[in-house]
Amino acid sequence: MTLKMEKSIQFFRDAQVLLPGGVDSPVRAFRAVGGQPLFIDRGEGAFLYDVDGNRYIDYVLSWGPLIAGHAHPKVVEAIQQQAVKGTSYGAPSPLETELAQSIMDFMPNIEMIRFVNSGTEATMSALRLARAYTKRDKIIKFEGCYHGHADMLLVQAGSGVATLGLPDSPGVPAATAADTLVAIYNDLDSVEALFKKYPGQVAAIIIEPVAGNMGVVPPVPGFLEGLRSLTAQHTALLIFDEVMTGFRVHLGGAQKLYDIQPDLTTLGKVIGGGLPVGAYGGKREIMQMVAPAGPMYQAGTLAGNPLTMSAGIATLNLLKAPGTWQKLEKAAAALETGIASAAKKASVPVRQTRVGTMFTTFFSETEPKDWSTVKIADKVRFGKFFQKMLENGVYLAPSQFEAGFLSTVHDEAVIAHTVEAAEISFQSL
Ligand SMILES: *Cc1c(COP(=O)(O)O)cnc(C)c1O
Repeated sequence: MTLKMEKSIQFFRDAQVLLPGGVDSPVRAFRAVGGQPLFIDRGEGAFLYDVDGNRYIDYVLSWGPLIAGHAHPKVVEAIQQQAVKGTSYGAPSPLETELAQSIMDFMPNIEMIRFVNSGTEATMSALRLARAYTKRDKIIKFEGCYHGHADMLLVQAGSGVATLGLPDSPGVPAATAADTLVAIYNDLDSVEALFKKYPGQVAAIIIEPVAGNMGVVPPVPGFLEGLRSLTAQHTALLIFDEVMTGFRVHLGGAQKLYDIQPDLTTLGKVIGGGLPVGAYGGKREIMQMVAPAGPMYQAGTLAGNPLTMSAGIATLNLLKAPGTWQKLEKAAAALETGIASAAKKASVPVRQTRVGTMFTTFFSETEPKDWSTVKIADKVRFGKFFQKMLENGVYLAPSQFEAGFLSTVHDEAVIAHTVEAAEISFQSL
């Protein structure tokens, strides 16, 4: 069986003439799995429909935001009602306060918040704030964690133990990357060594409290607690980048799940209900430094626009309905055990990870713990599995090193269909 995809092939050919690589974000081009991307016509609930009329169960969900599925009637209604009242005012509207309050109901550790238009802007601004607040320049990030594409964050570790960061992309000035120190995920010693080497110079640690951008890698017990006490000891700030994990590993984010109080939190994805969004927030004393309350400048033409705010409010309102999270957890757990047992039946060694509604199937026998244990996964085998799943109507993230996501409309029938497809796909390897 092969997919009918003449139209996608033609659209991709045309797109490559006008857009670099034919896409507006690199991983969409399917380069990590071979073949070519499918061009999408529409999304509905748990499903994507491509331009050739194929239907897929969607586990990408726009890379996380669509926790209520595609085009949820309540979210569509909110967007429609707002659109006729105008899409952006360039002046405050009550919707910004309403979404802020709604977020804080879930994450009471956030006392003040600033809305921006992407996760990239959120992390970039949170780090500027941390540097302004601490009057220090260096930051610590972790190998394998992604925080958007700001210069200082496009840095990977050198070989071996934690070293000075090297730019991950041409165009990133070496001087910018030099202030980014890279530690090893789940390894407190690597963090402690950096604090020792650069005493009094570290403004903040930024971390995905559950890593999602190297595939889902949970923190080992004590790791996040250790970061909290190390940052306190060295008067550096702890920034949880919950752009992905917010409302996904728990409705209150990783900070609620693991009961850790970061100084600053970055958000995005889910809080925009599928429209462009980002936010950073945290302790009032720190947030009061943001202009115009304080001297740290940061601004945005479309920041907090009423269209995004209303989609976000509608989405969070759906999550507030009693039993919603329990239902999400149950579906995610069923998917997790279903995929794991399908792999076992076919004698394909995998490591299945999941926290809340985020999951990854690593084609590996090694426990995923950090970037070095993750990157040895069999990418070729994953690519074959990915293509087989597509043929069987399941759309996974087109890379071994990404998270899969569920929505509130991934019901039992959808999960059962997915597990069947996984059985066929594992057997074919
Ligand atoms: C997606 C993501 C970002 C970047 O968000 P954009 O809206 O794509 O700029 C930052 N941090 C994490 C953890 C993310 O998953």
